[in-house]
Amino acid sequence: MTAHVQSLLETSGIECVTRNQYLSGGMGELPLNECWPEVWISHDEDYRCAMEIVHEVINDHPPLDACWQCGCGEKMEGQFSACWSCGTERPD
Ligand SMILES: [Zn+2]
Repeated sequence: MTAHVQSLLETSGIECVTRNQYLSGGMGELPLNECWPEVWISHDEDYRCAMEIVHEVINDHPPLDACWQCGCGEKMEGQFSACWSCGTERPD
């Protein structure tokens, strides 16, 4: 996942590095989340753009029963298969 994000960011001209990818040993001495791979943006001004790209990646793999938004702007919970407002069926 992080490698995929990193390559997308680099394609978009955003400089970034992946941390902790090859971390080995010493896990017991670190808070767990610091042992997970992370993508670091080199320049703060790229952050906004980078987050949009990351969100696109996440949206490509929505969790089951994820909320969805109709073209009319209404937001529905995952169990609804059609918009309660305008009746449009949930897009695939
Ligand atoms: Zn609708």
